[in-house]
Amino acid sequence: MIKAFVQAIPIIEKIELAGYEAYFVGGSVRDYLLKKDIDDVDIATSATPEEIKEIFTKTIDVGIEHGTVVVLYNGQSYEITTFRNESEYEDFRRPKDVQFIRSLYDDLKRRDFTMNAIAMNREGRIIDPFSGCEAIQNKLIQTVGEPRERFSEDALRMMRAIRFVSQLSFSLEEKTLMALKENGHLLKKISIERKTKEFEKILCGKNRQRSIQLLIDAGLQAFLPGLDKESEALLKFSGFECEKLNLTEMWALLLYTLRVPSENGISFLKTWRLSNQKMKIVAKIVANLEIRFSKPWSELSLYQAGAEISVSVEKIYQVVNSDEKNEQMIELKKRYQDLVIKERSDLAITGQDLISWKDETGGPWVKELIEKIEQAVLIRKVPNEKEAIREWLYTCNLK
Ligand code: ATP
Ligand code: MG
Repeated sequence: MIKAFVQAIPIIEKIELAGYEAYFVGGSVRDYLLKKDIDDVDIATSATPEEIKEIFTKTIDVGIEHGTVVVLYNGQSYEITTFRNESEYEDFRRPKDVQFIRSLYDDLKRRDFTMNAIAMNREGRIIDPFSGCEAIQNKLIQTVGEPRERFSEDALRMMRAIRFVSQLSFSLEEKTLMALKENGHLLKKISIERKTKEFEKILCGKNRQRSIQLLIDAGLQAFLPGLDKESEALLKFSGFECEKLNLTEMWALLLYTLRVPSENGISFLKTWRLSNQKMKIVAKIVANLEIRFSKPWSELSLYQAGAEISVSVEKIYQVVNSDEKNEQMIELKKRYQDLVIKERSDLAITGQDLISWKDETGGPWVKELIEKIEQAVLIRKVPNEKEAIREWLYTCNLK
C-alpha cells in the first residue's frame, strides 16, 4: 500500500474499534489502481457523522447533511463520508436529501462509474462488486447499472464521464456512450456551477482533444453556456496542441476561438459563473491577445500587459500559430525585464508633480500627460529622471 493510505490506517482502525466499518473508496482507490499520484484519500464508513464526531477529537463539519465530516489526524485532514443511498432523485438532479445506510454494497451501488465504485479495506483487500477493476484494466468508463437510469438520476454524470475521458484517456463503454448521446437535454436541469467544475476538468485533462470531440459528438455542448451553436469553433478549439496552457489560458483560447470580442469576454464568462478574479485575468489575456495578433510586441504593449499576462498571451499566440518557440519566450521575458519602468509607480514623477509644475488643478489632463510620459520613458526617448522629464515637457511644449 502507498504512504497516503498507510498514514490513514489508524483512522480506519479507530472507527472499526468503535464497532463500525470503514474503507478507502472513490477516486483515491481508482487512482491507486491506476498507479497515479494521490493527494487525498477518501474514506467511507457505516458510522453516522455524529458517531464519527464522538470517535475523533478534532473534526470539522463540512457537509453534515451529505454525511461528510473532516477529521484532523496527525497533521492531515481526511474526508469521512457516511455510507449513503441516493435513491430519491428530483428532476434529474442529485438528491437534496440523502439517507444514511449501513451497507457498503449499497453505498458503492449509488456511485457513478464502476471504476469509482471500488472499496479497499485497511489491509489492502479490494472489494469490487461491480467489476470496476476490470473496467480500469480495459480503460473503460461504464456506469454502475443502467446508464440511461443513472444519467436520468443525475445528468451531471454525463459530463463527469467526459471529464474522465480527458483526465484518464479512457473510452466510454458502448451502452454508456449511447445513453450519453440520447440524454444530453437532461443537462438543462443541472446548475451551472456543477457544469463549470467538470468543464474546467475537461479543459485541463491530458486528453482534452478527444473529450471535447466527444462532447460535440454527443451534442452536449448544446446545453453549455455560449456553446450551443458553436460546434465548429469548438472542434477547431479541440484541435489546438495546448498541453502547456493553464486553466485561465485555456479559457482565453476558447474565447479567442469562439471569436468573442474582448469587450464581451466578461459577460461570456459570467454565464459560466467564474470567480471575479479568474474573469479579470482571462479578459485581460483576451484583450492583449487581440493586440498581439494585430502587431508584434512593443515596449508599451509589454508594459501594459505586465509580466504574467504577456507570457500567457505569447503562449496562446504560439499555440494558435502552431509555432512553439522557447527562444522567443526567453527573449520576451528578457525584453520585459529590460523595460525602464514596469508600473506607473516606477515613474520618476507623479501626477502631483505635474499639477505643481503646471500650477493648475487636477483633471483628466494629468492621466493623459502621464501616459505620454510613460511612453516616452519606455521607448527611452527620455530618461526616467525628474529633471529630465520636466525639461522634455518644456521642449515639447507639453507643459
Ligand atoms: P477526482 O480525482 O477528480 O477527485 P473523484 O472520482 O474522486 O475524482 P469526486 O468528485 O471527488 O471525484 O467524487 C468522489 C466519488 O464520489 C467518486 O469517485 C464517485 O464514487 C462518487 N461520485 C461523485 N460524484 C458523483 C455523482 N454525480 N454520482 C454518483 N457518484 C458520484
Ligand atoms: Mg475526489
